[in-house]
Amino acid sequence: MSEEERSFRAPRGTYDLLPPASLGWQHIMRLAMDVFALSGYRAVETPIFEHTEVFERGVGEASEVVGKQMYTFTDRGERSLTLRPEGTAPVVRAVLEHNLHKAALPVKLAYAGPMFRQERPQKGRYRQFWQVGVEALGVDAAALDVEVIELGKRFLSDAGVETELLLNSIGHVDPTCRGAYLEELKSYLRSRTDDLAEDDRERVDKNPLRTFDSKERATVAVMKDAPVITDHLCSDCDAHFTEVRSLLDDLDVDFTLEPRLVRGLDYYTRTAFEFIAGGLGSQNAVGGGGRYDGLAESLGGDPLPGIGFALGVDRIAIAREENAETDGKVDVYVVAVGDDGVRAGLKLATALRRAGLGADLDLAGRSMKGQMKQASASGARWAAILGEREIAGGRVTLKDLSTAEQLEVPLDRVVEVVQG
Ligand code: AMP
Repeated sequence: MSEEERSFRAPRGTYDLLPPASLGWQHIMRLAMDVFALSGYRAVETPIFEHTEVFERGVGEASEVVGKQMYTFTDRGERSLTLRPEGTAPVVRAVLEHNLHKAALPVKLAYAGPMFRQERPQKGRYRQFWQVGVEALGVDAAALDVEVIELGKRFLSDAGVETELLLNSIGHVDPTCRGAYLEELKSYLRSRTDDLAEDDRERVDKNPLRTFDSKERATVAVMKDAPVITDHLCSDCDAHFTEVRSLLDDLDVDFTLEPRLVRGLDYYTRTAFEFIAGGLGSQNAVGGGGRYDGLAESLGGDPLPGIGFALGVDRIAIAREENAETDGKVDVYVVAVGDDGVRAGLKLATALRRAGLGADLDLAGRSMKGQMKQASASGARWAAILGEREIAGGRVTLKDLSTAEQLEVPLDRVVEVVQG
């Protein structure tokens, strides 16, 4: 193999998930699906790639994600396909395609998988990253918004990440609501065009709400005095938002009103929210979501309201790093020496595994001392020592690695003692 071939690296903005970090990551993915299932959200898997139109029409061509970040390619059949940059449009596409919305509503679904966006990589921002999320379709009650928001915050807390919840309502696409507001925002922005950062000027007419997302200092200063959507909600959207806040209060879910929170994808309507965590630097949003009552229609389907969230697994993993070291450990490390060591050790490890316990052992012929070192490094609570004397007597010395206490037990009692 040439030098060049040997120095292959993962593509820019991607990374290999290796142990032990992969254990924390796996824990988050599993926990998410378990916690979501307890609220009635059942697993859905959609393809990693979709027809490009699903995102162009669903997420919106004026959005940053569709306009600048998609991995789009033409396959051998001349079809334009795109690696999914987000999970909501594909899930809604699947619901419509399979008529899931013709059964009992709401349709409640959960997903966990990789997403792809060609962004400038930095800590917490990658070109392949993972999201876990839920979608609830077919019901527009404020109580559903609150079920979803509480579920997201609780899962993050269960995963070891305490977050601040930012909340807003961005109204719905209607001349009496967001439509009127956008006209007012546009005329304000036009009056301040010269003060905006150059890159943001083209947004004024194309996608004025996005100017709230700008990180450019000049634009941020202009946006401080901009009119905010919550002062312009129509009476229906206002009532919906009032109820969301009141139900969150009922459940003791704290939130901070953030009238400048607009979220990056075009399909959002009414409730918009984001979960913010400390310790993540500039990429401090671990996730967010909102209502998307017009999305199904944009995809050519029946009108179907919906709400959901997507949480970034990579960022959750970074935020909980210090809590992660207990993940994925075996319960017992079997230390076996002597002529019959491997045979006896493999038998004991297998018995423990068959009883549902985590067990590992040395199959590389290390000395007793070397194996004890492996036992400590494995993070196991117990070392099960099989020396020649123990093997001959059908016994095992169990050493509690946290206290260094030892006890000798018959082989057939090991499982019972370890299960405690
Ligand atoms: P969004 O789909 O843009 O609303 O993003 C929801 C969450 O996904 C964000 O809060 C992040 O935690 C995560 N996320 C989005 N883009 C990236 C990325 N490029 N790299 C890592 N995580 C991301």
